[in-house]
Amino acid sequence: MENANIATNLTTITRSFANPDCLLVAVSKTKPISAIQEAYAAGIRDFGENKVQEMTEKEALLPKDIRWHMIGHLQRNKVKYIASFVHLIHSVDSLRLLKQINKEGQKVNRAIPCLLQVHIASEESKFGWDEAELTAFLFGTEIEELQHIQILGLMGMATNTPDTEKIRAEFRGLKALFEQIKRAELPTQVQMKELSMGMSGDYRIAQEEGSTMVRIGSAVFGARTYT
Ligand SMILES: *Cc1c(COP(=O)(O)O)cnc(C)c1O
Repeated sequence: MENANIATNLTTITRSFANPDCLLVAVSKTKPISAIQEAYAAGIRDFGENKVQEMTEKEALLPKDIRWHMIGHLQRNKVKYIASFVHLIHSVDSLRLLKQINKEGQKVNRAIPCLLQVHIASEESKFGWDEAELTAFLFGTEIEELQHIQILGLMGMATNTPDTEKIRAEFRGLKALFEQIKRAELPTQVQMKELSMGMSGDYRIAQEEGSTMVRIGSAVFGARTYT
């Protein structure tokens, strides 16, 4: 299949950014190597995938200066396949997963960069920590044992709804939590630097509400036939 006009899409998207300093992570899940090469030629170096096998296959074939972002629900038994190279795991949705990432980080002698995914949507199906769970963990003692992870911020997905005010309120709530945590005294392996929120349909709202990274798939590469 022909790739959509990826370079043109990228220009249109970045021109429409509400915050030009926001990082665009191009979500290439389900898309062929040729599509990633096209975005790469247009200057993109950050790519997001949601499946471990797909990410490792693409990583092996593509330039080594690509920064690979894991954005989908990650199974604990698969962390080992990406531990050595993943640039940032956005979708750390439980303490059990974080402990596994720490274990694999230790094996490859790195502190793996992570974001904690917070549940902000009204859909039950979306993964993530709730606020109470998150603060209990960050200000608790269990984190002291995790020296092979780095927590660089938070990630959230808004409800899939046409109600833009609801989306905005959810992003605003996440930003407020981010700022509240940032003001506190934090363990050494925690820094509140990155706030990953916004996708093709809501990235402008997310940027207006303080996003530092947007994860954009279909607006860059065209619609997916499956997710
Ligand atoms: C697929 C996906 C995206 C990108 O979605 P688009 O609507 O195609 O931009 C962003 N974030 C996550 C977690 C995803 O799974």
